[in-house]
Formats: sequence, structure tokens, C-alpha cells
Amino acid sequence: MSEKLRIFTYPDSVLKARAEPVANIDGDLQEVIESMGETMYDAPGIGLAANQVGLLKRILVYDLSPRGEGRKLCVLVNPEIVEGEGKIVHEEACLSVIDYSAEVSRHARIRVKGFDRHGSPVDLEAEDLLAVCLQHEIDHLNGVLYIDHISSLKRALYRKRLKKMLMKARNTDE
Ligand SMILES: [Zn+2]
Repeated sequence: MSEKLRIFTYPDSVLKARAEPVANIDGDLQEVIESMGETMYDAPGIGLAANQVGLLKRILVYDLSPRGEGRKLCVLVNPEIVEGEGKIVHEEACLSVIDYSAEVSRHARIRVKGFDRHGSPVDLEAEDLLAVCLQHEIDHLNGVLYIDHISSLKRALYRKRLKKMLMKARNTDE
């Protein structure tokens, strides 16, 4: 049975850590993948990296299917970007960065190599939203958040606002 996992949020240190390659693609991994999928759909989000659920393994899940067309959980294990070209600016948000979004510039087209959930090699080319999503998720596995790509001023303003939000939430809890 898969279970919903806790999503860690900025500035938790697990989001800053580099995830380790998966050595064995086995039954335990299938369970982790199902739980990550469930957590992503429940959130809801279009992508989730293992760091975000506190697991430092190079696994990511995503699903860009249009709403109402059913689910198609895509999985990449040990993904690496091997080529990137062009430029796309897209407004990004993240399940681990509460109440914020910002424009980020990334490669418009990438080529990614890795493995699927059964251990078969994957070699895919992505563009537009899929390219943005995969760069965002692979960044997570390297301990990088999309807000690391924005200006330090914008990031500082966000940190300040987040601090206030968290303090307010804490006060309401008491
Ligand atoms: Zn994210």
C-alpha cells in the first residue's frame, strides 16, 4: 500500500542536500515511487523529487497530462541532463516553497538520460513545459531550488515574508 508522504519545505536542509544514486531498482523502490506519486497528485503538483519527501535518492516523478485525461505517472531514476540548448522563461512554483512563484530562465530543450521504474534505460528529449519541469526536478536532486535561480534581492524579500508567515502560523497554533 502506498501512503502519502510529508512534503518538506524551504528552508529545510534536506532540500539543500545532493541525493545519492539509486543502486537497486527493486520492490522497495516501487513502493517509494507509488507513495511519491500519491503525494504529488494529492498536493496537487506536476512533479516531485525524492528530496522533497525527505529521501536523498535520485528519483523523480511527474505527470503533465491535461486535467481530466486521467493520470499517467512518469518516473525517472538517476536522471542526468546530457544536453541543453535554447532559452525559456517560465513562471515556476514548487510544493516545497510555500506561497511563492517567480520567473526562471532555463534551457528550452534538453536531453535526459536515466532509467525508468523497472530499470530500463531512458533517453528522452524534452521541450517547453516538460523541459522546465525536468530541469526543476533534477535541480532538486542536486540540492538546488528554483529560488536559487532568482536574484538575491528577490530571494531575501521572500525569506522575510516567509518568516512572517511562519511566525503568524505558529501564533495561531498556540
Ligand atoms: Zn520543486
